[in-house]
Amino acid sequence: MNDTDVNTSICPRCDAENVRVLTTSPVPGGWTMYVCVTCVYSWRSTEPASATDPLTYPAEFKINPAEIPAIPAIPAVPPRRR
Ligand SMILES: [Zn+2]
Repeated sequence: MNDTDVNTSICPRCDAENVRVLTTSPVPGGWTMYVCVTCVYSWRSTEPASATDPLTYPAEFKINPAEIPAIPAIPAVPPRRR
C-alpha cells in the first residue's frame, strides 16, 4: 500500500471530512501521518485498511461526532482542591 491508496479526506473513525497531515516520515515518501481534527484519531498511511479506510474500519469502534461532547474523560478529571 502506498499513500495514493489511502482516502485521506474522510476520518476512518468518525467519517468527518476534517483530516489534516500531522507529520511525515523523515525519509521522504516513507509514510504520512494524518489526524482527524473532529475526533483526534490519528493514523499512518502504512497501516492496514482496517485502521485507515472508513469503509473497513471496525464498526464497533466508530464514533458519532455529535456524541463526542458527551464522552466522559477517562480517567476522570478530579475537582479542584480549592
Ligand atoms: Zn474523526
